[in-house]
Amino acid sequence: MTVILKAKPVIESLTTSLTADAAHVTATLGRKPHLTVVLVGDDPASAIYVRNKQRRAEEVGVQSETIRLNADVSQAEVVAKVQQLNADPAVDGIIVQLPLPNQIDADVIINTIADAKDVDGFTLAATGRLWTLPKNSQATVGPCTPLGIMALLDYYGIDVAGKNAVIVGRSNIVGKPMAAMLLNRGATVTIAHSQTTDLKAATQTADIIVAATGRRNLITADMVKPGATIIDVGMNRYVDAAGKKHLTGDVDYANVAPIAGAITPVPGGVGPMTVNMLLKQTIAAAARTAAE
Ligand code: NDP
Repeated sequence: MTVILKAKPVIESLTTSLTADAAHVTATLGRKPHLTVVLVGDDPASAIYVRNKQRRAEEVGVQSETIRLNADVSQAEVVAKVQQLNADPAVDGIIVQLPLPNQIDADVIINTIADAKDVDGFTLAATGRLWTLPKNSQATVGPCTPLGIMALLDYYGIDVAGKNAVIVGRSNIVGKPMAAMLLNRGATVTIAHSQTTDLKAATQTADIIVAATGRRNLITADMVKPGATIIDVGMNRYVDAAGKKHLTGDVDYANVAPIAGAITPVPGGVGPMTVNMLLKQTIAAAARTAAE
């Protein structure tokens, strides 16, 4: 029987711990943990993500604020805004919602965020820390999507040590940090991407496949070893011939699920884990301030 790796029970248990941790920090600091989201422009998907983050923050006792900047804002203005937030003692965590408009270099903005307030784990310092963790230790900070995937695997008791993991996608926010986390926990890791010549040959050997490409139905049943664990990060929106809107992952779920050992649904799998890891890291940042 395929195990469906739903986020819901993981999030129920996280709600208890996040709420308790946030309340503890609130009692010590005399204010709630505070997350500031910088949203540039009017990308509708970004607006939805930001709204979801805000709603979930309120549920667990984190104060969340969104600073909206016009799409034509200059890079210097965004840098100045982040610097101002860095210096603000009432702000524990800062994220800049990606993607950013073309005139702005995302790397410059991300690396302006103070290390102590980098709750997305995208800065060079956070990246370096992730790749230099002690062998077999648990990553407690890092990019939220792979952190959420590790939390999901741990909750469902899927041990990655000694397994062949194939990650499809090499982005800095999902594929590469996912590789670091799985490698660190003892998996043998392959990272595939659009220039991989024989993707199927790679995925067929995998005990764990993490699909993070944004390509609907890229992972088909013939690419999957029976019993493998399938983590579907993709979030692809499309409208069918009847005009109905759908959200789907990178995996051909209907045909892969019956042969998989375990599989994340889309929606309801990886996506909801990401925002919870963001809040976990915000509360942890506030706790560090409280302990100073
Ligand atoms: P990017 O576009 O930055 O990276 C996509 C990666 O997929 C690239 O490395 C690309 O290769 C690779 N790729 C594209 N086509 C193929 C192909 N045909 N075969 C093999 N590899 C391919 O995306 P992100 O990493 O930011 O996001 C990936 C997906 O995950 C998206 O659908 C996104 O919406 C979703 N996502 C979901 C999150 C969640 O919380 N659930 C959070 C973040 C992202 P190359 O490098 O060679 O171009």
